[in-house]
Amino acid sequence: MAKRLLDVVNLNKEFQVKSDKTFFRKPASIRVLSDVSFELYEGETLSIVGESGCGKTTLGRCIVRGMNATSGQVLYHTEDGGRVDFLSLRGKDFKKLRKEIQMIFQDPYSSLSPRMSVYDIISEPLLANFKLSKSEVEEKVTDIAQKTGLNVSYLRRYPHAFSGGQRQRIAIARSLISNPRLIVCDEAVSALDVSIKAQIINLLKDLQQQLQITYIFISHDLSIVQNISDRVAVMHLGKIVELAHVELLFKQPKHPYTEALLSAVPEPDPDLKKDRIILEGEVPNPANPPSGCHFHPRCAYKTDLCVKKEPELMSIGDGHYVACHYANDLKLRGVNHDES
Ligand code: SF4
Repeated sequence: MAKRLLDVVNLNKEFQVKSDKTFFRKPASIRVLSDVSFELYEGETLSIVGESGCGKTTLGRCIVRGMNATSGQVLYHTEDGGRVDFLSLRGKDFKKLRKEIQMIFQDPYSSLSPRMSVYDIISEPLLANFKLSKSEVEEKVTDIAQKTGLNVSYLRRYPHAFSGGQRQRIAIARSLISNPRLIVCDEAVSALDVSIKAQIINLLKDLQQQLQITYIFISHDLSIVQNISDRVAVMHLGKIVELAHVELLFKQPKHPYTEALLSAVPEPDPDLKKDRIILEGEVPNPANPPSGCHFHPRCAYKTDLCVKKEPELMSIGDGHYVACHYANDLKLRGVNHDES
């Protein structure tokens, strides 16, 4: 078993919502993350999937401290065998570990400063975090540019001179330059054309092999998730409702929400017809979540128990966790029409 890199423990994020009619009232709050807990192992890719608004991007941002969590811990296992709460680090202690956890954003057009040359963009984290000579910086930038497939002779150009795929390579080079152990990729290939997507996915996989990086890969595209992941966590309304090894989750989903998401994944064999499960009704309002299981208004398998009691995320063996009262009873359809 690989070593643990991160323990996310009961992470919560609430937003206060102001309304002109609530001048004398306490502002309402929306809970975007609700007691999210999971472990992350060194060298793995854990994907986080779910519909828009499920909280997956907020989760990624809270982990890297791009956004403050309301409560909870992100316990980071350091290389010397220690363990610290990354969210409570301050000053020098934070700066020391900050470079080990990086993020790549969805939009390579807005995530790179148009006023900086590509060389300056890639070298900026080095200059901020390390004391290096000019030639050492140049050596490292050249090395990472080569590893990420960038043409070294173009590094003095500005981002506007590059295509979307090349810009995402620049963003990856920038995130790698400080030698991170974890990269959170937030919809990192969503804005790219299909052929470029494949190139960037292959690049991320190659770099993981070479540099032993761990990824949290946030995506709504399950075909890509199937290709890149070791494990997958499915989020619904701010909670993890299923977490398992990628093959197990795709072949034998145990949560009806996962089954519905998987029904949208195209089959590789065109002769296999697939009935897509269309979830009835709206995505529930996080400011006023449904009683019991938050998925019950859209679940075809719900019972009275589901309306009254909220299921907890429980282990059903083989590293498979599910939050459904009937996880062991339902016969759900996975990809390739395998049934449990
Ligand atoms: Fe559906 Fe009930 Fe399971 Fe929730 S607990 S997913 S409503 S069967």
